[in-house]
Amino acid sequence: MKLVLASHNQGKLQELAAILEPAIPGLELVSYDGPEPVEDGVSYLENALIKARAAYKHTGLPAIADDSGLAVEILGGSPGIFTAIWAGGRDNLANRRLLLAQLNDIADEHRAASFVCTIAMVSDEGEQSFTGVWPGSISREERGEFGHGYDPIFIPEGFEVTAAELPPEVKNSMSHRAMALQQLISALSSRL
Ligand code: IMP
Repeated sequence: MKLVLASHNQGKLQELAAILEPAIPGLELVSYDGPEPVEDGVSYLENALIKARAAYKHTGLPAIADDSGLAVEILGGSPGIFTAIWAGGRDNLANRRLLLAQLNDIADEHRAASFVCTIAMVSDEGEQSFTGVWPGSISREERGEFGHGYDPIFIPEGFEVTAAELPPEVKNSMSHRAMALQQLISALSSRL
C-alpha cells in the first residue's frame, strides 16, 4: 500500500517513514512533489486537510499531511497556527526569543503550554484526522541541542529538562506527533 505524505520536507518524510513503515508491513510512504496549496485554514485540522486533499487530488493515492504548533495557556492558545511565523518570519531562534520575552514576567506556575499535532488522511474512503497533545511548560531560557523548532524552550510534563535535552528516541516515543501517529497506525492497521 502506497501512502503519500503531503510535504516537500525530506527530513519529515524520513522521520515518519521510520515510524510508519515498520508498524505497517507492506506500507510505503512516498513524498508528494506537486504544487503546494495555500495554507489558509484557521485550525491545525483545516491546514492539514488542505494539504492532504491537494496531495490526494493530484496523485489519486491515499494521502496524509500534518500540521502542528505550540499552544501557550496564558497567551490564550497562541501562537497556535502562527507558531512557525510567530516573530514575523520562519526563523526558529527569533520565534523562541519573542516567546521568552513575552513570558518574561510570568511565574513558573503560569507557563503551561502544549505541543499539538494533527494528521489528516484523505483517501477513496473519505477523510479522517488524528490529534496528539503533549503537555508541558515554557522554560525561562534555551537549553539543549537536540530536536528543532521550539524544543529548547519546552519542558515536557513530568520532566525537568527541555525537549531539546531529551535524546531524540525519547522525544519521538512520547511527543504530540508520536501520539497522532499511533492513532494513524491503528486506523491504517484496521484497514488491512
Ligand atoms: P509544522 O506544522 O511542521 O510547519 O510546524 C509548525 C511550527 O511548530 C514550527 O514552528 C515548528 O518549529 C513548531 N513545532 C512543531 N512540532 C514541534 C516539535 O516537535 N518541536 C519543536 N517545535 C515544533
